[in-house]
Amino acid sequence: MNHRARKRFGQNFLSDPNIIRKIIDTIAPQPGQNVVEIGPGLGAMTAPLQERLGHLSVVEIDRDLIAKLHERYTPEQITVHEGDALKFDFATLGEDLRVVGNLPYNISTPLLFHLASFAEQVRDMTFMLQKEVVMRMVAEPGSSDYGRLSVMLQYRFRMGRMFDVPPGAFRPVPKVMSSIVRLVPRPADALTAINEQTLSRVVAAAFGQRRKTLRNTLREFIDDAGLEALGIDPGVRAERLAVADYVRIANAVSA
Ligand code: SAM
Repeated sequence: MNHRARKRFGQNFLSDPNIIRKIIDTIAPQPGQNVVEIGPGLGAMTAPLQERLGHLSVVEIDRDLIAKLHERYTPEQITVHEGDALKFDFATLGEDLRVVGNLPYNISTPLLFHLASFAEQVRDMTFMLQKEVVMRMVAEPGSSDYGRLSVMLQYRFRMGRMFDVPPGAFRPVPKVMSSIVRLVPRPADALTAINEQTLSRVVAAAFGQRRKTLRNTLREFIDDAGLEALGIDPGVRAERLAVADYVRIANAVSA
């Protein structure tokens, strides 16, 4: 391999061929599809993806790894975008985009929020993430994992945890368990916030102090009567509300 893994870039490289095969089968890439891989690293997933697709795009931040990619692949096989995926404009890659990657865990939450803003161009996304993060993404109301990440991602995507991956599948071996998660954008006519900024602010306020009741946390947005008019009890906590409830609150605030 001849590459020293960089902690600051969250580098844990997949090394188990069975797991790699299972991930690629889950993605099920078809020739000609528009696929971008975030963080190709040493190419554990990139090689089988390129073989099946013919061409894919990648976004990688580490210059040493980028140099290796250029040595190994022609521009017809791989388009390399050098830089930070957090700042990358995925809209430039066109429509019907499939986004995949064994993501750097140190930036997973901001990266997921960034990617959510491109949901309209996306066909689906398949990621390896820390299991704990995946549990938060797919959590249902009432559970302790249910929070801002769950609501804001479930607002845009249907999500499913596909399977878990043990630490031994990576080099270096991470401390945490990982999971594969799939995200598929909800149809455009599904529940819609009039103003997504407002939705985001309401959800952040509600979960900012998750031990407090909505009456307290949402005071600056809506009063008891407003919540009751929506059929929501002001005396409950943030974790009790469904995604649709947050959208209704945000829309009442926007109106
Ligand atoms: N896909 C490879 C694999 O499965 O073996 C590597 C996965 S490793 C967990 C994460 C990869 O993301 C590394 O290649 C790392 O350099 C890259 N990376 C880290 N931060 C990044 C960022 N902000 N933007 C783009 N790539 C990043």
